[in-house]
Amino acid sequence: MSAIIELEGVRKTYRTGSMEFEALRGVDIRIDEGEYVAVIGPSGSGKSTLMNLLGCLDLPSEGRYVLAGEDTSRLDEAALAAIRNRRIGFVFQQFHLLPSMTAWRNVELPLIYAGVPRAERKERAVSALTRVGLGDRIDHRPGELSGGQQQRVAVARALVTEPALLLADEPTGNLDSRSTRDVLGLFDELHTSGRTIVLITHEPEVAARAQRNLVFDDGRITVDRPTAAVAPAGAS
Ligand code: ADP
Ligand code: MG
Repeated sequence: MSAIIELEGVRKTYRTGSMEFEALRGVDIRIDEGEYVAVIGPSGSGKSTLMNLLGCLDLPSEGRYVLAGEDTSRLDEAALAAIRNRRIGFVFQQFHLLPSMTAWRNVELPLIYAGVPRAERKERAVSALTRVGLGDRIDHRPGELSGGQQQRVAVARALVTEPALLLADEPTGNLDSRSTRDVLGLFDELHTSGRTIVLITHEPEVAARAQRNLVFDDGRITVDRPTAAVAPAGAS
């Protein structure tokens, strides 16, 4: 197995005026391709800070982040933006869909930034929506969809670029229990098909669906353990 994520001695200090706060206090993590990892921990423990670093949305104050063999600290903003667009799919608690655009227009957005031609964009957007079970909702706007359906549109948008890594920060935080089951079922399928997933959650039932749990407390990993979840066929 090759590593997709390697963090070494990562620290993150936020500075607000003269105040400093160390949100990550020395984090070492290795995640291999194809793993399904849940990061769990109380509010304020540093989970979203970690997600922002993993997603190249922010940089560590100290330490190294190697993503798919590339040391991200050596990359400029344009290179980081390209990595975010091509290699990483993001899913957030608040969906972040554009309300005036139909489902397929929302899903095609990352392909516009990636410079994919128009006809291919629609085809790929529709195929991603079909994959998440929304092939019959492509022309609906977010306001015409349930919360669970909106989150599935967001998952389709995250997948449309075929990213190596899917990062999800509290993706079920705004969903009812049925929609939570739908979205987690989708993550199970993505994992089985080989996608690397890092899911952040404060809900133990959600974390139990992953293969491995990293428990955060006060900016540090306190526990790194496999879950009882069944490994997909082919995993050892
Ligand atoms: P979690 O996602 O686990 O709830 P966060 O990573 O959002 O935790 O936050 C960890 C700590 O860092 C919290 O104490 C939070 O207040 C602080 N923090 C987060 N973002 C910022 C920021 N941009 N500026 C200053 N402090 C921040
Ligand atoms: Mg958070």
